[in-house]
Amino acid sequence: MTFWPEEKVFKDPVHKYIYVQDPLIWDLVNTKEFQRLRRIRQLGTSFFTFHGAEHSRFSHSLGVYEITRKIISQFERNEYEDWPVEEKRLCLCAALLHDVGHGPFSHSLETVFGEHHELWSCRIVQGDTEVNRVLRSVSPDFPDQVAGVICKSYPKEIVVSLVSSQLDADRMDYLLRDAYFTGVNYGMFDLERILRVMRPYKGKIVVKESGMHAVEDYLMSRYQMYWQVYFHPVTRSSEIVLRNIFARAKALFDAGYEFRFLVEPLRKLFEGKIDLEHYLLLDESLTQAAFAQWTMEQDAVLSDLCGRFLNRKLLKYAAPVTIDPSYFDKLRDSVLQAGFDPEYYVQIDFPADLSYDVYRPGNSPGKFPILLLEDSGKLVEISRKSDIVGSISGTHVGRQHVYFPEEWFSAQARQSPALFSWLKGET
Ligand code: ZN
Repeated sequence: MTFWPEEKVFKDPVHKYIYVQDPLIWDLVNTKEFQRLRRIRQLGTSFFTFHGAEHSRFSHSLGVYEITRKIISQFERNEYEDWPVEEKRLCLCAALLHDVGHGPFSHSLETVFGEHHELWSCRIVQGDTEVNRVLRSVSPDFPDQVAGVICKSYPKEIVVSLVSSQLDADRMDYLLRDAYFTGVNYGMFDLERILRVMRPYKGKIVVKESGMHAVEDYLMSRYQMYWQVYFHPVTRSSEIVLRNIFARAKALFDAGYEFRFLVEPLRKLFEGKIDLEHYLLLDESLTQAAFAQWTMEQDAVLSDLCGRFLNRKLLKYAAPVTIDPSYFDKLRDSVLQAGFDPEYYVQIDFPADLSYDVYRPGNSPGKFPILLLEDSGKLVEISRKSDIVGSISGTHVGRQHVYFPEEWFSAQARQSPALFSWLKGET
């Protein structure tokens, strides 16, 4: 283990400083698997919409660690007897490593190839990696415990819920960080206040009733961020282009197409046999280098989509009142006649199909509800007390959009007045 003369700090724009007091954490940060997170953006393609959103999974992971550290040190300062002190290291390591398995532009990659980042996080923690060797220095079964917390199978709810619940260190960090880097004003909430009202109670993390308004603020900021940032239609457009690049490249690969340029990790991914070693080589630098090469491929669809992605010539969108299948078919036909394969250039997108919702009162692993602790010692689920939370609970946010090439829209859309007015939301 590293020589440890004193506590280390990272300067951070969201938390000001991130304090590392345990050499184990420092050693984990310095593994190559954790350093790889510097080459993966936290918000995928959102930088096309909000140019500041270039922050990495590296900075978010440190932030989640720091919030977890602050929560635990508050529990320790108050000497809450419901807090299992022996779990501190486990929580801190799981917080730091919870996203270590993210791939490049995770959500698009996961949709096309079915690779799930949480599973990869656990493979990295348990496999033949530097992270695994550092964790094993604690005890032979420590990596399995950390993986258990990340994959939510660890038996103590209180430990899992610090890292993943509806009020956890992960969500609190990404809301503040994403708001900061996108430059929007509405993702802010009073983190210090929330940390002060959280406490361990009978094997759960709960919130003192007097802290309800601070939590309302946090949930409202979540609501705003979904609408304004995460589901922004321009970001969704860039994700569609990205997904279709992967889908086209995979279809070409399956059909035996000879790529002029195909790096080994992508070949393995297309073959459906990617192993840990190659997965760790996949990052956004490599992926974007591949896209730049693919703009010179023979296949017109692949090269055009890659050019669109790199040069931000995304698909245009419209918001029809309803997704009428007959108009949608007309749109596909017309786009096809204009020379674009509708398979890759026309799409309906409904962000609420994703499993995002602002807040759900139910109980499932990783979705533990927010419980208020009344003076009497009774626990009440927050949406039953707060009208504000009640009104946004279980609601999906987002609106359906239709995407198509801008070139088709400006040259041909008006030739079919009915289709045009459907796209304009007039029919
Ligand atoms: Zn995270």
